Parts: sequence; structure tokens; C-alpha cells
Amino acid sequence: MAASIKGVFNDELQNAILNSKILVVGAGGIGCEILKNLVMTGFKDIEIIDLDTIDVSNLNRQFLFQKQHVGKSKSAVARETALTFNPDAKITAYHDSITSSDYGLNFFKKFSLVMGALDNRAARNHVNRMCLAADIPLIESGTAGYNGQVELIKKGLSQCYECFPKPPQKTFPGCTIRNTPSEPIHCIVWSKHLFNQLFGEEDPDQDVSPDTADPEAAGDKAGEEALNSNANEKGNVERVSTRLWAHSNGYDPEKLFAKLFHDDIKYLLSMDNLWKKRTPPTPLDWKNLPDEVAGCSKDTDERLKDQQRWSIAKCALIFGKALENLKNKLEELRKKSPNDHLVWDKDDQDAMDFVAACANIRAYIFGIAQKSRFDIKSMAGNIIPAIATTNAIIAGVVILHAFRILTGNLKACKSVYLRPRPNHRNQFLVPEREVNPPNPKCYVCAPTPTAVLALDTTKMTIAELNDSVLKERLNMIAPDVMIDGLGKIIISSEEGETEENNDKILEELGVKNGSILKVDDFQQNYSLTVNIVHRDKPAVRGDVPDFLVVADEQDLKPKEEEEPKKDNQVPSTSNGQVTDIIDDDLLEIIPDDDDELMEVVDEEELPAKKRKTVSPGREVPLIKKRKTDRQVSDDGDDCCVIEDTNEVTCIPQKNSLKRVHS
Ligand SMILES: [Zn+2]
Repeated sequence: MAASIKGVFNDELQNAILNSKILVVGAGGIGCEILKNLVMTGFKDIEIIDLDTIDVSNLNRQFLFQKQHVGKSKSAVARETALTFNPDAKITAYHDSITSSDYGLNFFKKFSLVMGALDNRAARNHVNRMCLAADIPLIESGTAGYNGQVELIKKGLSQCYECFPKPPQKTFPGCTIRNTPSEPIHCIVWSKHLFNQLFGEEDPDQDVSPDTADPEAAGDKAGEEALNSNANEKGNVERVSTRLWAHSNGYDPEKLFAKLFHDDIKYLLSMDNLWKKRTPPTPLDWKNLPDEVAGCSKDTDERLKDQQRWSIAKCALIFGKALENLKNKLEELRKKSPNDHLVWDKDDQDAMDFVAACANIRAYIFGIAQKSRFDIKSMAGNIIPAIATTNAIIAGVVILHAFRILTGNLKACKSVYLRPRPNHRNQFLVPEREVNPPNPKCYVCAPTPTAVLALDTTKMTIAELNDSVLKERLNMIAPDVMIDGLGKIIISSEEGETEENNDKILEELGVKNGSILKVDDFQQNYSLTVNIVHRDKPAVRGDVPDFLVVADEQDLKPKEEEEPKKDNQVPSTSNGQVTDIIDDDLLEIIPDDDDELMEVVDEEELPAKKRKTVSPGREVPLIKKRKTDRQVSDDGDDCCVIEDTNEVTCIPQKNSLKRVHS
């Protein structure tokens, strides 16, 4: 291994590698690559944790796993495989959630540094807080299609993962798509998967039937029974059967509709656990479809077809027509080549009609705001899969960052972005100019964290405050909440202390506009002051969130109407970047204008106005002309130094900024 060979590294780095203790959080796409790099480099003492088991669909990019490992613990198999590369390494594997109370402050304090290779924001936020609390450097990494990034998070030195609000999450676990959609995009992703199941390249990752492995439905007897009794004969769960089933039914629109939008929904309803805290979906009857939907036009004016939102009856008509056309296209294609399939294309009228109609029908069923065909087209055109090579490159950069940290050169750990195509300097890997300092207003890493919470104090219950706001949105694990001034504890993390409050409305307990809540999470070593602002609850889900959490009350003002330069609230780093760090089995959505903007930033011929939108007068550190001294010799080889940070500054989230805090 590299570190065992004299002369590969300088003595200082060699010793540091041999004597460090590393925690890798996540054994998925990036985690596997990191672990391989660590053992090959000669790191001796490694611990790795992952909650997941190996799925067949992981095998195209998580190369420590093979077919015979499907169903086994990711961390355990990753350890086994990595040990074959370097039997001298000591690797401890945990098949567990990093958010478990077993991994508290003392656990984190054992390590020289932590490498985050996670696939979801909740776990990232938690690891961020634990590393801040333990004061251990964290190398946070992620990929999104061909984009990737690596950043250092170190208390007091750098921005933390939560320093700036993020665009809405663009990755969705399979069970959200299949069982519990709550946003229009979830329904759009599902519909694209359905297209592929029926007409496109079949992919086990893209199952559209109810997911009985949903951890939330665990122990749900009704769900299991429904699965065992009905599923197979109705084709609900056999992964490859959707197309065969549709084919054997002649792609009959009524039968397909009944299965997708009635039977499968009924089946989901039988999984009781899913609907304890959610509004349950409503199955639809083909023969009795609503023709009037609030805000939706039933007119069939073709000129406005793209801009209008359709009634469900109209969706069903379009669904039937698109289904027939697509079936005919597939049959034509297969006359020439029997195993061929259609490829989804947003510019193909039938393919787009099919997805728009299905997405809106599903949205209606789940009480989610419907969208026009035009909106759906822009969202559906930007769903891209995980890429193995991106993970490998990013994992390499993670190790280079580790070298700098271990030799005390933290200031050289500038955030690095991997771009889909080279910039005008022919660079794919682009570092920031320097480590970005913490946001003094951050509600996580500021000395006295404070946040503003806007919600309807006359509608929200204590249970919702606890589950949706504190746990889901603010990623606390076990919060305690006290009303400041009154000294009244309204939520306790101790069982049996405040359960009687759960169904009470905030106002009943004295929480109203102007109230201040003191929230503590002992597990995360995190205290937060929450200022309450009352605002009326929106009528429809999906368009406007039920509540907002912001660092500053000013941020509550609608952003949509503001000047583009307001986009500068998106910081220059990953923390506001469009490519929210992602990895793995999840899908991601990138905004329509992403590529265009990334490409044109430096184009001289570009009108100044447009460039302005990507180089806002944001709060960035003053640009230093001097290059940072480098102690790691290979630094320059892998991370090109750039002179102009504008290239990696924010990519405006024109359409999504308004939902940044949702
Ligand atoms: Zn912060």
C-alpha cells in the first residue's frame, strides 16, 4: 500500500496516514470508492457505517459489491472486499443508522476526521452537527449526475452544511416516489418510471408499484397481507411484470387506469402506518372522474393545452390517447427489432402527454397541486441518474482533502466542484478560491443559533411541530421545547412527559405570533432559539409549504418577484449550489437553465445582464490574488487553481428559491 512504501509520501504525511483513525459515513456509491482509496493508500484504522443492504441496482456503480452480496449489509460487504485489497487494514463495519443514539459525541471524538458519503440531507445535517459539536473535521462529498463536490466542514473555520438554505431536495427515496408522494415532482418522476416500465428500457430501480419494503410501513400487517394475497395476481409487485401485464391486457386504458390509480392506491391505503401522519390518497374510478378541479381548466383549447392545468377527466382522455399511440409506436418498432423499446423524450408529444396526464392524476389522488404540461415538461426533462465515474473522481478528491487535513493544512481544503464539461480553462475540477468562512447567522453553527419559524399557530398541532418542523425540517433527533419567558415545556424528549400535548394546537398552549421557543437536542448537542411568526396555512399542498424556517425574518418575503440579483442569497459554495450533493440510488432533478448557465458564465459575447445573474454581489470573501501555499505536492495535479471564482458561483434557482425553506 502506498503509505507503506518509503518515498511515496513525505514523512509527515506518511506518519499521519498510518496513525489516523477515519470514519466513513455511508457505503454507497461514494463510500465504496472512498473505502477502496483509503485501504489502497495505506490507512490502517477505518470505521464505516451504513444502514442499507445491497440491491441489484447498486451493482453498476458500487464496485465492492457483487451479485452474490445482494441483500447483505453494505458496510459489512464493503469491509470484506476492501480487506482483500489490504489485509493489514483494520476496518470496523456498522450496519446501522448514524443518527442512532449509539453514535454520540464520544463516538465522533474518537476520529481524526470524518468522511461523509451520504445520500440524504437528514443524515448529512446530523453528521454536520455531530462533527461541529465534537469539533472533528468533516469532509462532505456528493455527486449529482456529472456534477460533484467536496467540501471541508470545520467548526469556526468553514461554512457548515447548514450555513445557507438549500434549494428543495432534488433526490427522492424510492418509497417516496412509490408510496408517499408529497410534491408534484414526486408524481412526475413516478410517471416517467411508469413510461419506462410500459414502453422503455425496464429498470428495477424504476418500479412504480407500491413498495412494501418501505421502512415506514414496517410491521404493517395489513400491508403485508395485502401484498401476499393480492399482489401477484394483480401484478402489483412482480418487478418485471408491469409491461407483460399491460401487454396481456392490450394496453386497455380503462384496465391500466384501474390498476394504477385505483387498485394500487387501495393497496397503499391498506398500509396503515403510512397514513398515520399524512392525508391518505383517494382512489379514482374511471367511470366517475371529476371534471372540475379548482384552478384547472377543462376546456380543450389546443392552443392553450400546454399552459392550462387539466381536469382529471381530461387527463384520463389524454392518458388513453397517448397510451394507444405509444403502444402502436412500440409495436411498429418491434416489427423491425423484437427487443427494442421506446426512449422517453420530452419533445415527443405522446411521451410527454402520457407523463403529464399520469403525473396530474397521481397528484390529484394524493392531494398535491397539479401542474401544466409546460411545467411538467421542464421538470421531467431534467431527471438524471447517478454516474459511477463521478463518484470515483469525487472520492479521489476526498482523499486529497484528507491528506491536507491530516498534515494540518486545513486552509488548503477549498471546496472543489466537478463540472459536467470543462470551463474555458479546460478544467473539469474547479476549486473555490479559499475556504468559505461560516455564516454568522447560521442557525446551526453560529455562536447562539436562532431561526425564524413562520407557520399557522391556529392550525399546527404540537405533534406536527415536533415531527414535521423539528425532526423532519430541522433534523433534530430528540428535541425538547420550552416557551421562553413562560418556562413552560411543551415538548419533552422523555417518554410520557408531554404526550398529552400532541393533539393540541400551538395557540392553545400559548405559542403565537412573537413567541420565542427554546429548543434543545441533547443528542446533537444543539440548542436553537426559534422566533415564531404567524402566517395562514395554504389551502393546497405542493405549491406553498405549510411552514417556513429561515435565518432572518427578511427572508420570509416572497422572492419570486424580486430582482434577479436577489439570487445572491444563494451562496457561492455548495451550500446553495444547484447540485445539492447527492449520491446513489436516488434521482435528481436539475433546473432547466443549469447547463446553459454553467456554460455561458465566461462567454464574452454574453449580454452583461445575463452574466449578472450568475455573479451576484453575494456575501463572499474578498478575492485574494495570492495563491495559497501548498504543502501537498500533488495538489496542483488534481485540482486546478482558478483565478476567477465566478465560474463556480451560484447557479440561480429562479424557480425554486421561493421554496428554499420548505
Ligand atoms: Zn453553519
